[in-house]
Amino acid sequence: MTNRRDFLKYSALLGAGVTIPQNPLSAQKRVTRGADAPAPEIDTFTVQAGSMRLPAPSPRQINIPDVDGFKVLKGDFHIHTLFSDGAVMPADRVDEAVLNGLDIIAISDHIEYRPFFSNKGKWLLNDKDANNYNIWYEVGKPEADKRNLLLINSCEITKNSMPPGHFNALFTTDNNPIAAAVDDWKQMLRVAAEQGAFLLWNHPGWEAPTSGGIEKGAPLRFTDAHKEAHKEGLLHGIELFNDSEYYPVVSDWCNKYDLAVFANSDIHPSELNRYGLQNPLRPITLVLAKERTVESAKEAFFAKRTIGWAAGALWGREPWLPRLFEASVEIKALSGGVIEFTNKSSLPVSIVMGGSLFDLPQDVKRQAFRPAGIKTLTVANWMIGMNKPLEIALTV
Ligand SMILES: [Zn+2]
Ligand SMILES: [Zn+2]
Repeated sequence: MTNRRDFLKYSALLGAGVTIPQNPLSAQKRVTRGADAPAPEIDTFTVQAGSMRLPAPSPRQINIPDVDGFKVLKGDFHIHTLFSDGAVMPADRVDEAVLNGLDIIAISDHIEYRPFFSNKGKWLLNDKDANNYNIWYEVGKPEADKRNLLLINSCEITKNSMPPGHFNALFTTDNNPIAAAVDDWKQMLRVAAEQGAFLLWNHPGWEAPTSGGIEKGAPLRFTDAHKEAHKEGLLHGIELFNDSEYYPVVSDWCNKYDLAVFANSDIHPSELNRYGLQNPLRPITLVLAKERTVESAKEAFFAKRTIGWAAGALWGREPWLPRLFEASVEIKALSGGVIEFTNKSSLPVSIVMGGSLFDLPQDVKRQAFRPAGIKTLTVANWMIGMNKPLEIALTV
């Protein structure tokens, strides 16, 4: 931002109503060096150009009512930094999450792939930190605490063949013994599970560079390797949405195998480069937790009280998806067969009733005629199974 034109362009982009002086240096403050200092012929003093600072953008507001006494936390449980192959530092991930209105995140850097800051990456860490696989958490935690963001420790177990593919170990207590078992993916999951970690199968549609089972373009499969891991208690959740990919069949897998649903960003570049400012399309996992704490979030994960939200749609399981709808959308019967809907949340809601489709923007009263005999409505963008939108009984 070196000239007035760029400055104006940037402030207009932010919509911040910034007042720009004709000359930013007109507000300059001269730092004097004592009354006796002789006035120089040319100005060699330090000058503070105070008017150059833009106001910080305010965080995105995401309002979701409590559901059956549970708070709805907004989270992203798959994020990378320069400690593996991401482009920014943990403090930047914290800033981005706060700006996006999130409550809780996991920085889940790869154990096996660390091309930047590591023991053999582009920039070598000192002996103490070179083999420390908790470093992204240790560096990020004080920053998260300062911003009142919940940060959980985690790592991504990253195998090049599919199966097994990639897993996030979430709520780990120490990633180093997981890294020490690097030659045996099942053992890595076991070590994490012994720590009480929640194990998430990441991007199940990912085409592995050295494929062991799923070929490019083939349908997704819940492989024997994943079935065995699940049977052994080493699989608790699965990404239905990752970055910009959506795997519809995962809705059915979550129901069949009792897995928690996730929508995560798996973000590698900066958030501004990937989504732009406060883009509502950034994937979010909603967590129905007793409290806004790490312990409560962990309890909710294992109780499978999660809902994925991305690309203008939601995915969840019984009974939490319908209960989230009941908490979010008020339905009243008016006279003459008219129904009034009010969406009290920031969630996107598209209704189909008696053949007509309409959206419910936040806090806008919307009236629609209910044809005779219509007893249910469909929430077209809330999915409770593969190709199965949520049906709500009309009790009013
Ligand atoms: Zn991955
Ligand atoms: Zn990843």
